[in-house]
Amino acid sequence: MAITAAESTGTVTLTIDGREVTAPEGVTIWQAAKAAGIDIPVLCHDERFDPVGVCRMCVVDVGAPAFAASCVRACENGMQVTTDTPELERSRTMLTKLLVSDQPARERDPKQTTTGDNELLALADRYGVTGDDTALPCGSGRGVDESSPVIAVDHDACILCDRCTRACDDIQGNDVIGRSGKGYATLIAFDLSDPMGASSCVSCGECVAACPTGALTNKPIHDIPIRPRTELDAVDTVCPYCGVGCALTYYVDRERGAIAYADGREQPGSQGRLCVKGRYGWDYAASPQRLTMPLIRREESYPKGALSSDVRGDIAAGGPAADDTANGHGLADDGGPGKKRRGGKRGRKPGGLVDYAEVLPHFREASWEEALNLVARRLSEIYAEGGPGAIAGFGSAKCSNEEAYLFQKLIRTGFHTNNVDHCTRLCHASSVAALFEGIGSGAVSTTYGDIKNAGVAIVTGSNSTANHPVASSFFKQARRNGTTIIYVDPRADKMADHADIYCQLKPGTDVALYNAVMHEVIRLGLTDDDFIAHRTSNYEALKSTVADYPPERAEQITGVPADLIRRVARVWGEATAGIIFWGMGISQHTTGTDNARCLIALCSITGNVGKPGAGLHPLRGQNNVQGASDMGLIPMFFPDYQKADDPDVKASFEQAWGATDLDPEKGLTVTEIIGSALKGGVRGMYMLGENPFLSDPNINKVRKALSKLDFLVVQDIFLTETAEFADVILPASSYLEKDGTYTNTDRRVQLGRKVLDTPGQARVDWEVVQDVANRIGLCWHYETPRDIFEEMVSVIPSYKNLTYDNLGLTGKLYPNPDPERSDGTVVMFTETFKTDDGLAHLVPAEWLPARELPDEEYPFVLNTGRMLEHWHTGSMTRRSYALDAIAPKALVFIHPDDAAGLGLEDGDLARVSSRRGVIELEAKVSHREARGNCFIPFHFREAAANLLTIDEIDPFGKIPEFKFCAVRIEKAGG
Ligand code: SF4
Ligand code: SF4
Repeated sequence: MAITAAESTGTVTLTIDGREVTAPEGVTIWQAAKAAGIDIPVLCHDERFDPVGVCRMCVVDVGAPAFAASCVRACENGMQVTTDTPELERSRTMLTKLLVSDQPARERDPKQTTTGDNELLALADRYGVTGDDTALPCGSGRGVDESSPVIAVDHDACILCDRCTRACDDIQGNDVIGRSGKGYATLIAFDLSDPMGASSCVSCGECVAACPTGALTNKPIHDIPIRPRTELDAVDTVCPYCGVGCALTYYVDRERGAIAYADGREQPGSQGRLCVKGRYGWDYAASPQRLTMPLIRREESYPKGALSSDVRGDIAAGGPAADDTANGHGLADDGGPGKKRRGGKRGRKPGGLVDYAEVLPHFREASWEEALNLVARRLSEIYAEGGPGAIAGFGSAKCSNEEAYLFQKLIRTGFHTNNVDHCTRLCHASSVAALFEGIGSGAVSTTYGDIKNAGVAIVTGSNSTANHPVASSFFKQARRNGTTIIYVDPRADKMADHADIYCQLKPGTDVALYNAVMHEVIRLGLTDDDFIAHRTSNYEALKSTVADYPPERAEQITGVPADLIRRVARVWGEATAGIIFWGMGISQHTTGTDNARCLIALCSITGNVGKPGAGLHPLRGQNNVQGASDMGLIPMFFPDYQKADDPDVKASFEQAWGATDLDPEKGLTVTEIIGSALKGGVRGMYMLGENPFLSDPNINKVRKALSKLDFLVVQDIFLTETAEFADVILPASSYLEKDGTYTNTDRRVQLGRKVLDTPGQARVDWEVVQDVANRIGLCWHYETPRDIFEEMVSVIPSYKNLTYDNLGLTGKLYPNPDPERSDGTVVMFTETFKTDDGLAHLVPAEWLPARELPDEEYPFVLNTGRMLEHWHTGSMTRRSYALDAIAPKALVFIHPDDAAGLGLEDGDLARVSSRRGVIELEAKVSHREARGNCFIPFHFREAAANLLTIDEIDPFGKIPEFKFCAVRIEKAGG
């Protein structure tokens, strides 16, 4: 990559087109000219890649016998550069003619006829070149490749500039594109010249964004032609999926009321990159299955319980789709462009979604007035009868900060209970518990992009190429630039292919492994004694505990060879700076808090917190799980992690909110609320955007709990499995239909902007929450999300100084002393930690086995998680054409030897059972699994992994053990 101004040490002065230009030493002529406002045309060059100088379009006259390629030639003192002589223009015109002579006719080029992004044809226009004025025939006959569901390849339009190859390799680290053939028959090739759709391509679309011709183009979603970019509205916002929070721009066809396509947008974190979900997974909002009217359960559909045979659990997995008979039941109209699902009718059950035809007849449409009055009346009655403990609320990490803040305020001030939680309980609750105890803050201590400053990074319990794809692209890029990557995970997921050291540990043995690494770090004298002495407490206790974990003992427990453990310790201990990134492979265990304690201790004893390239980064799962937690959507904390059971905190919030009788005790967590409902404690629930039926462990237990509730209101965009248990369903807004702020895994607070209108009578969520609040007697008068933001910043010191206006297009990191001038704080805790004494508290942990170990009856360990293309309970991604087309079905991943032993081949139907349930799904034989383990993604209701999982929880973080339970696998029908 070309040197940047920031990386340069000195300056040079030269003349470009008669103007004296001073440029940082080492920058290219093209960069210097651009900075001076002088345009030099390019084709093969893109500032994000290393320049290659092959197309010769950017040549300039430097007074030498031959023209110089300005994209590669560095500036020199006293250089005289001319960029636009007649000779140069003749050269560029000739190059353009030669390239255009091989191009397909303009009408065949989707980039020219749609987005207008074809840089080659733009040059043709600039130099007055048409296909007609060349002697060569148009089009080279090299063919097209339509095999990818989202990207069209037109080899005839390819000029072999390698921008796509460099985008795929250098930016995304996917290494899919190369070249095949010779001479005129040379083609870009995917893997070993496979069709793109059959290659290892992960459909990130980076190559499309880089291609300067019509060779790589986005296919229109739903076969609706994309109109020229100039005729579309551009809305700058943020991706609605994972915690990476990539900045993007949606191009909106206002005539159709639909998004045409998405592009990555520059922002300090994501730097214009997207993954398949961000680039192609936005059409769920236009699904004909959107809820558009409030719905009330019909009298005859009581007593409460699941309404569909699938959710009742009384038909086999993968049962037949029901016919469409669901017209007129609060669904979005499927007429009109942009709203048609391929091959689907309104209400049909596509690919394992809730069967609307079976469920909707149990509800009747209602006005908002009637529905909201009923919600307020029933929740108030239950509160009056049962007191605060009878009410609970689940908010959502998909909602904005403003919505999360209002929702917890409603539950706390309206029903005087702290029984309010969200899916952080199922994701990083144990990490947060350990971080609070250890360093006094639950947020990351540095950003994912800071890996570029790290000598070593441990990525552990995180399939980041699938779960945080854009963050993983920075990991891969850092490795190419010299950072050593240590990957630790029971599954040899793709990240293992990009690691220098891979430790395939047995599931649930993280504490033993990291204790052994610390044992070796201490034995080798690789600790940072000054840091330990001045910035930590309890080191001697930690040292004494890890003394019992020599690598040989850890090898017995973890399966990781002792020598490899020693190597990890040495590489980590000798590095100048190291970061640990972790995911739910660490947190979703009954020992999740202990696992995170070990990571905190490992960083602390080596001085790897509070300096560039060092720190602790639990990769956040959902787009706003950091923000929702910051907002106090958790039972033990008010906003900004102020302790709910601290009388002073309670008093200050009573004053700030004008409230009385806030709950003086911590509330119940997600899993505790389900347990309480089962026993008749919690009787009334408000569910905003959560789908615990599929996302919580042990579905059979959740089913009983939801059935037992006296009253359940579900506010969501689709009829979810959980909504089948509802008394009232309120049609909500999707992410794309509202303004609000979202906080990503880096602590970056960004503005999400409204892209589309809500369908039918669906409403923006914060307004609905306010309407419920006012009906139970709280006098709220928020008029815009900005009003809510201002109030919440006043009670959240961490967000101090942030305003809607200073967040700008790229958002800001918190804490941020001066958002007008600064992006915010990357590295936290440079001097002190946020604990009472300012020290990092080292907490030793002993290894404990998982709660349910394999045995003769259930000999396999089940691990659950996400796939790249899907998201949580699939309600959004399974309604996205591209994502559903790429990954349409549930799979159980199993080692080849285990599969052979069970008589299973790729594609066979397998039956997987645990002590709690049984599912049937397709077997995927995979060398990425260890023997004795299997992996099932949890997105697929027709083979719901959580029918199998155990609801044992970590005693501190209260997070369930999604990553470990014992199962049996058989060939179905065998
Ligand atoms: S879509 Fe992404 S992974 Fe696929 S070839 Fe293009 S850049 Fe590579
Ligand atoms: S990495 Fe996450 S935030 Fe970025 S585009 Fe993909 S899903 Fe969206």
